[in-house]
Amino acid sequence: MKLCKLPKKSKDHSYITFTAKQNQLQEKKFACVPSNKRIVFAPHCMRNTFTCTAVEKDSYYICAECGSCKIAQISKLVKKLNYMAMYIVKGGRIISKIIQEQKPQAIVGIACFFEGYQAFKMLKEENLAVQFTPLTKDGCFATDTDLEEVKRVLSLGC
Ligand code: SF4
Repeated sequence: MKLCKLPKKSKDHSYITFTAKQNQLQEKKFACVPSNKRIVFAPHCMRNTFTCTAVEKDSYYICAECGSCKIAQISKLVKKLNYMAMYIVKGGRIISKIIQEQKPQAIVGIACFFEGYQAFKMLKEENLAVQFTPLTKDGCFATDTDLEEVKRVLSLGC
């Protein structure tokens, strides 16, 4: 049976199981990619839209580290660890374009389980090591993630 035919609860469970399995399968490969070959994608719904001073481009934002949401701490760590870049994306489609242009070897994606599932599917033909960290509160606005888990994944090394 196709996922889209499953009841919502079953679908959610499938997304959780699938993304956890992919994380597990790809973690070692990811850990051995130097951080300057890694890119981070964060969702725009995590921003504090009332005070956000991020620089807006066509399909993404670059965090200005105003401190109004957790992305500031993630951005600081990304820079400290010498990652290639972090993009706060408005949707999933821009991810492929950025990958084509920047040619990273590994990706960290922060997203809801459904988007994480979609991203793993979309990137399966790419020679990339992908790690997904889920939102702990999803939706379209004021979403949240587990900062400690994001830090753990960003810091993975071999
Ligand atoms: S920390 Fe960054 S993403 Fe968050 S509200 Fe401030 S500028 Fe926007």
